[in-house]
Amino acid sequence: MTAFPQGTILGYPRIGRRRELKKAVEAFWAGRSDLVALEQTAAELRAGTRERLAALGLGRDDSAIPESFSFYDQVLDAAVAVGAIPSRFENLRDADGSIGLPAYFTIARGEGERAPLEMTKWFDSNYHYLVPEIGPETAFSLSSDRLVREVEEAVAAGFRTRPVVVGPVTLLALAKASDDAPEGFDPLSRLDDLVPVYVDLLARLRAAGAEWVQLDEPALVSESLPASVEQLADAAASALAIIGGASERPSILVAAPYASLEATFSVLVAAPIEAIAVDLIRGGVPVAAAGLADKVLVGGVVDGHNIWRGDLAAAFGKLEALRQLGAAQVAASTSTSLLHVPHDVTDETKLDTRLSSWLAFADQKIEQVVTLARGLSEGRAAIQSELDEASAALADRENAPGVRDGSVRARELADSDFSRVSYAEREIAQQEALGLPALPLTTIGSFPQTGDIRRARAQFIRGELAEAEYEAFLRREIDTVVELQEDLGLDVLVHGEPERNDMVQYFAENLDGFAVTENGWVQSYGSRATRPSILWGDVSRPAPITVGWSTYAQSKTAKHMKGMLTGPVTILAWSFVRDDQPLGETANQVAVALRDEITDLEAAGIAVIQVDEPALRELLPLKSADQPAYLKWSVDSFRLATGGAAAATQVHTHLCYSEFGVVIDAIRALDADVTSIEAARSRMEVVTDIAEVGFDHGIGPGVYDIHSPRVPAVEEIESLLRRAVDDIPTRQLWVNPDCGLKTRGYDETTESLRNIVEATRRVREDINVAV
Ligand code: GLN
Ligand code: ZN
Repeated sequence: MTAFPQGTILGYPRIGRRRELKKAVEAFWAGRSDLVALEQTAAELRAGTRERLAALGLGRDDSAIPESFSFYDQVLDAAVAVGAIPSRFENLRDADGSIGLPAYFTIARGEGERAPLEMTKWFDSNYHYLVPEIGPETAFSLSSDRLVREVEEAVAAGFRTRPVVVGPVTLLALAKASDDAPEGFDPLSRLDDLVPVYVDLLARLRAAGAEWVQLDEPALVSESLPASVEQLADAAASALAIIGGASERPSILVAAPYASLEATFSVLVAAPIEAIAVDLIRGGVPVAAAGLADKVLVGGVVDGHNIWRGDLAAAFGKLEALRQLGAAQVAASTSTSLLHVPHDVTDETKLDTRLSSWLAFADQKIEQVVTLARGLSEGRAAIQSELDEASAALADRENAPGVRDGSVRARELADSDFSRVSYAEREIAQQEALGLPALPLTTIGSFPQTGDIRRARAQFIRGELAEAEYEAFLRREIDTVVELQEDLGLDVLVHGEPERNDMVQYFAENLDGFAVTENGWVQSYGSRATRPSILWGDVSRPAPITVGWSTYAQSKTAKHMKGMLTGPVTILAWSFVRDDQPLGETANQVAVALRDEITDLEAAGIAVIQVDEPALRELLPLKSADQPAYLKWSVDSFRLATGGAAAATQVHTHLCYSEFGVVIDAIRALDADVTSIEAARSRMEVVTDIAEVGFDHGIGPGVYDIHSPRVPAVEEIESLLRRAVDDIPTRQLWVNPDCGLKTRGYDETTESLRNIVEATRRVREDINVAV
């Protein structure tokens, strides 16, 4: 085996520090540039990344630098490399069977009637990957040499990098059965057919000059996949026996981040591979296993998932503990790919310098890894001053004003703050107060964020539009949205959220305890990136946030205007959150701020208030043992936020997924009066779950898939509604789209809503006849 570098990272952001890749890719999609120009920009980005990582201290020629570029998504990269694409895209292959970049984008984004691959969250992160579709007929074969060419490109530039590819077990474990597969088909059953293609790929990578390859196998740590941990471990053992047994291959690092490997660790130790990367942020140091003496252990001790500088001395301590296991070598690394963090703290000129000194983005994390690596080779004394500096920053953070705010902590919580009066009582009070028809019609909150809105916001931020003018513009926008909803005949209206750039950042900007970045972009999916806020201190609400907009909107209509808030769990999930206290404590601080906001909304005459929790499912821990504690604090924080609402105030919540069954107990425990969920794409399948568990609060299964520009026909919506009416008592049912409308255009939105109203009218007629 070739020596492994003393320090490395599992992956680096690919979008570019100024989102260069986004701009290049979107220009190509829009026909404003060609393939040559796009490939050129991407090659320059990769070259810049290699140089940058070398300048930060990773070795140029010892495989320390990962080759982890992607044009869209690493799971799609792997699927395309091994030819695992759905049959509807088969005709996009070139004459020689390879899948080129235009075809790759088509698979990611769809085209006309050909639906793209589905998208879903990558483990417990906010990154979305594309879900491969695999059936009994999927013909695996090497179909893209992109990764091989990237290794060659690096070699030509004087680098020896370490190509990174999603491993065969994870690729299959995350896949879904293709449409043409028989009922109950398991993609993992195709492992033996897939593995030889990985053997081919590794041989090609070796020939191109790679001395190490990294197979990402995070599926091995998850207890939340259809396959059990034991099945996944067996699959890994059999795949690695073949891949590792091949003669022409680079040395193999298997990385299994995002949680602890537990028993699977010994399976990897027994496999014919050379190195194993373990996540020591989410998991503990593994127990010794026979066979370690000829393995490299890569300790993920620098948090790849969060932006804190953290405790470097403790990180070094973990590496020392790892050394006790008796492996051939121990190396320092990040716990996960740095894909989840922004590029560089020094790009932030407006952040408070004291706060900046507590942070480490990707580049700072690399410096930390390099320091730890030096400590491993030269001894702790050689890095003592760096360890001390990090400890001093940590101590400074602990004692800084705002991190612990006496007035926030003085607020005492009673058990009764977490509950409202019984649902039965609330239902009667709300019926009386609201006077809504059967199957009330509403939307999820946002209306299309048009180019005009984005332009006005950008002008306002640049100082080109005065605050008064910007607000007048937003009020006109609200007028239009209210008028449209009245014309359409919706029952509970919304103001459309034009003032919000993002449903979390908006609250972060208006609460104390948060900071926002200028350039802290993190890839969300494909060319999309978000700029998560930093929740660094105790959270409080200096002034009402939404009351002005909601009351303005309410003043424009005699119908009920829905107040619109983002819930504590979602605010935490989509921010970088302080790591110095339990999440539940932080969530409760956010909840108290929202609770006060609800009190103010009520006092201002808002009778229906929605608290969105689309991220409730996403934060669910990968290990079943950790799930009850999570569900307890997440549900509690929602109940604390909403627990002060009067009986007659109708509390809504919105969740962005259709896996109702998975979190049904939590949804029930939220005790919201009305819950809207996604249901259109699954043709209302979720209605069966709802009926089966006897869920008895208000429920709005979405009838319009807002993820697609398609306008659903009246008959289609009507049949979805009838399905819902068949299974669920009508007094519980609401009619609404799947999610917010902000990514849609006005034409399709208006037409779709008109069809929803008409379908509802038809179904209501029958209900009235029946009554
Ligand atoms: N109220 C938000 C909106 O309509 C909810 C968005 C979401 O669920 N992600 O945009
Ligand atoms: Zn949603």
